[in-house]
Amino acid sequence: MIIPTLNCQSNCKYCWGSENTNEIMDISLIDNIIDWINNFNNETIHFTFHGGEPLIPGYDFYKEALQKLQKNTKLDGFSIQSNIWLLDEELIDLFKKYNVNVSTSIDGPKEINDNQRGDSYFDKTMNSYNLAKEKGLNINFVSTITSESKKESDEIYEFFKNNNMNLKIHGALPSLRGDNADPWTLDANEYGDLLVEWLDKYLYDLDKFSIVDLDHICKSTLRRRGTLCTFADCIGTTLAIGHDGSIYPCYRFVGMDEYILGNVKNKPKKEDIEQSPAWDKLQEFREYVEDNCNSCKFMKYCKGGCPYNAIVANKTPKAVDPQCESYKKIFKEVSKRANKEFLKSAIPGMNNKKESNDGKFSIMDLMMKP
Ligand code: SF4
Ligand code: SF4
Repeated sequence: MIIPTLNCQSNCKYCWGSENTNEIMDISLIDNIIDWINNFNNETIHFTFHGGEPLIPGYDFYKEALQKLQKNTKLDGFSIQSNIWLLDEELIDLFKKYNVNVSTSIDGPKEINDNQRGDSYFDKTMNSYNLAKEKGLNINFVSTITSESKKESDEIYEFFKNNNMNLKIHGALPSLRGDNADPWTLDANEYGDLLVEWLDKYLYDLDKFSIVDLDHICKSTLRRRGTLCTFADCIGTTLAIGHDGSIYPCYRFVGMDEYILGNVKNKPKKEDIEQSPAWDKLQEFREYVEDNCNSCKFMKYCKGGCPYNAIVANKTPKAVDPQCESYKKIFKEVSKRANKEFLKSAIPGMNNKKESNDGKFSIMDLMMKP
């Protein structure tokens, strides 16, 4: 993950990830990243630009960065997570040229979105989305569900379905940087109920749009290993570089000095990173999960959830993701439905069809979705 700045022009009320700052990554740092990463490991790399708002450095930064990273690394691909307010025709063409997966954030219809993301956010993001669509650039969405918007979850669901917009759901989190996010935090039980409710509806709508989290939860259950970072062990396989070259475990930690694992300018090797105090804290999370989640039947494909969520909500690495109860709810529901379908298919004359008479797809269809 490359985090060129923590600055952002949006003013989302529950935001925990941006700062009012002028610090922006200098393009020369891309050379430092290349020099470091090529000696760090031998694996292919997926680069995700994140923020703050990653489009703030502008077209020239991306023109050079994408070209250099493509030419000089073992590239798997590029992604960017942005409010897309600065996405113009020039950037659209550039992102198409480099096959950049673009994702933006919208929390539902205009009224619901602007209530929590600020006036005119919806129009600015949707204008850029429509321009991108017109020019053939695909855009995916992240939708943050808060304690407030949870009450309107049906409207949010219909909005994404009716507009054929694929989304990832994000439950609002507390923050270590201040207390602005606290009242918006989504309770784990409510989040679990929402996932189950949406699964029920989604099985009628698999041909209309994608709810990426539900796709991954079903796939993880089938494969018995997490296929989304939240449910995999991300420690050491995901790293984030801040504007000054500091290395963190993930974009979510950027700006938190106690989670700096090293700096790309010093070209740390894996062993150096593993000797940092920040790495020790991440190991505390891992060890806690090993002990605490040991008897949980979903441990193999949950792994204690997101370490950042755990640390931020509990103010210690000796914790699991506060969404634990919601994960248990949805994994249990998916397993129950899958078992029922397996049993049915074992009884002659009751084989599952791809799509049943009432238009409902099976959980197996969802598990096998490409
Ligand atoms: S810290 Fe959380 S968001 Fe970041 S890679 Fe790990 S699981 Fe994903
Ligand atoms: S569902 Fe909860 S107890 Fe089970 S592995 Fe995940 S965090 Fe641990």
